[in-house]
Amino acid sequence: MKKLKTYRLRFLIMLALLAVVAVGYFTAGGIGNFCGIGFESITLLCPLGALLAMIAERTAIPMAVISVAVVLLVCIVLGKVFCAWACPVHFLSRGRKKGDKGDKEGKGGKVASPCSACASPCGKAKGIKIDSRHGILAAALGSTLVFGFPVFCLVCPIGLTFATVLLVMRLFAFGDATWTVVAFPAIIALEILLLPKWCQRFCPLGALLSLFSGLNRTFRPQVDAEKCLREGRGKACNLCEQACPEGINLHDVAAGETTLN
Ligand code: SF4
Ligand code: SF4
Repeated sequence: MKKLKTYRLRFLIMLALLAVVAVGYFTAGGIGNFCGIGFESITLLCPLGALLAMIAERTAIPMAVISVAVVLLVCIVLGKVFCAWACPVHFLSRGRKKGDKGDKEGKGGKVASPCSACASPCGKAKGIKIDSRHGILAAALGSTLVFGFPVFCLVCPIGLTFATVLLVMRLFAFGDATWTVVAFPAIIALEILLLPKWCQRFCPLGALLSLFSGLNRTFRPQVDAEKCLREGRGKACNLCEQACPEGINLHDVAAGETTLN
């Protein structure tokens, strides 16, 4: 129940953020979008977009360098807060995952077993894990180098989600009907349907953030060895992994990746 409440709170915060940024986009000043939020020269860029822009331009862009440094510093201090609290794709793909092993909220909002062995509620154990997402990150960087523009941004579900919100707003506010208002949601739907574990296996932005969030010590969960059947009594227990809505395996990080670490 507590996790369900937390999930709802995170969902509401994501919606509020999306609404603020979308409404701000239509105001005279505007506050940017999810790819770059702020006012003119004081803007925080998406770190992946910033890196891709610099590779495409083959030069260091001060705003991009600062954005990468700031976001990665935040990642070290607070972990992947963007993934956990702001990214709409996380919530879209969670909806798709209902009924999966890791999503106990899809079963009447109940968690299968109390996650009491963890001393802190959510996150990841130790270290930096290199996986398929980092391969896609390398492909995103490499393709930008080859083609001279950020190819990945064309299909990035985060950018597409925000663009869809703006297009729908324009459709209702000004009657602007373009083919993209159908195409963008269709691409997002395809990505979520065909790649349901987008966050865990494919997202290059998540991969970039996880390179640094592994250094985070603020919200790192600890296994309480006295309560843990596995660590304390050597039993083959994996209830904590089953209970965790993110499928985190505290005993084998390589086997369970999360959007929250
Ligand atoms: S489209 Fe995606 S990867 Fe590109 S800048 Fe926007 S959020 Fe970042
Ligand atoms: S892993 Fe990527 S898509 Fe998933 S929540 Fe993080 S930034 Fe968003």
